[in-house]
Amino acid sequence: KTRTRFAPSPTGYMHIGNLRTALFEYLIAKHDNGDFILRIEDTDQVRQVEGATEIIYDTLKSVGMNWDEGPDIGGNYGPYIQSERLPMYKGYAEELIQLGKAHYCFCSEEDIEKQRQEQGESFVFHDPCKNLTPEEIQAKLDAGQPYVIRQTIDHVGSQDFDDEVYGHIEVDGDLLDEQVLIKSDGFPTYNFANVIDDHQMEISHVVRGNEYLSSTPKYNLLYDAFGWERPIYVHVPPVMKDEHHKLSKRNGDASFQDLVAKGYLPEAIINYIALLGWSPENDQEIFSMDELIQIFDTHRISKRPAIFDIDKLTWMNSEYIKAMPKETFYQKVEPYLKKVITKDLDLAYIAELIQSRIDRFDQDEITEMIDFFEALPEDYDLEMYKHKRQKSTKEKSIVSLKAAYDLLKDFDQWDSVDAIGEEMMKLPTQLEVKNGVVLWPIRTALSGKRATPGGAFEIAYVLGKEESLRRIQVGID
Ligand code: GLU
Repeated sequence: KTRTRFAPSPTGYMHIGNLRTALFEYLIAKHDNGDFILRIEDTDQVRQVEGATEIIYDTLKSVGMNWDEGPDIGGNYGPYIQSERLPMYKGYAEELIQLGKAHYCFCSEEDIEKQRQEQGESFVFHDPCKNLTPEEIQAKLDAGQPYVIRQTIDHVGSQDFDDEVYGHIEVDGDLLDEQVLIKSDGFPTYNFANVIDDHQMEISHVVRGNEYLSSTPKYNLLYDAFGWERPIYVHVPPVMKDEHHKLSKRNGDASFQDLVAKGYLPEAIINYIALLGWSPENDQEIFSMDELIQIFDTHRISKRPAIFDIDKLTWMNSEYIKAMPKETFYQKVEPYLKKVITKDLDLAYIAELIQSRIDRFDQDEITEMIDFFEALPEDYDLEMYKHKRQKSTKEKSIVSLKAAYDLLKDFDQWDSVDAIGEEMMKLPTQLEVKNGVVLWPIRTALSGKRATPGGAFEIAYVLGKEESLRRIQVGID
């Protein structure tokens, strides 16, 4: 059965790269009707952050990536938090020692540093503790000397494996370092725990960042030592900010939470990150989660690092906004509108006007777009009357506004945009000018702006008769 796992360390935010890995894991599992497992990797006690696990839960839930097993819902392979699995790791480490594939190491940081200095560039730690007799080891343990447990790698020869993305990989096994499996605080390292857990949890596909590619031969030696089947490996390229820098929260790059706070929709973020390092066979770009599940294929994951392009995400987000049902959009945008508009205006209609024009739910952007409904900007630029293409002038514009005022003051069907439109369209005929020569100045007078959501009819409708006439008069004066 296909079983994948998302194994984040609880650091307090969701990296875009991590979320992308989680997404690929989810898609691989669901494509095969398999299980997606959530495992919290909290063995690095120094990096613990309060509330971090909740952020992981909330993020996955908000994008609809529901896990089949995890710390909160349990499952047959628990516990799903590494700190609750400690005795198990210790047991396996001892078994490895029995098998001659691991050993106690009593070296201090200084001992190791000294070797590093001596060896220079191509440092491979040669552990003198491998020569200790069982009696010497026992004596040190009895004396309470601090120790770690290291993997033993002796004359293993060349090591190879196949990665779904990177293909066939072969390395000289004797250059692999004898990594720490159990730290002096009794916690396992990632390097050890990932193997034990992935095996214990019957993970079929291990999906993770390509920074783990070089360690994988060491993990394979552990699988082999226990006689366990190796998983299928899917190492994915990093998500980059530009050609040379990885995207990283530490360097101020946006996390998932930051993007949501900036007004991006979780569905759009997911859609966008699916395309970071993966592509479908055709050039379709907009995908629902269900569609992604249908067509996702590890063989179309690219080795090339993916560059995170915020403009592309913003475009995609605007497509998602446009596609929202009117009511859903209104519900979501209403609080933003209410921050700007206190007058009794038709907010649902204003929402309709801006739905195809905003690319994010961002208060500043929305405010800037609609604040003229609330109040006419003071001292707007009269030069805006000049519509270049219509070769109009300020004088002609004032003539248009006066005619508009005279016509509209006797007009009473202000509850219909269409009726307002029909009425205003009498003006070009009456004045014998092109439509724009009339409509452009009316819209400018009504809004005090060069660019507005909606044209003259729509704005007049929202403002109502009294306020529209007042603004036209302001324009004339
Ligand atoms: N805890 C590791 C990380 O956050 C997980 C890597 C993996 O998926 O194996 O990088």
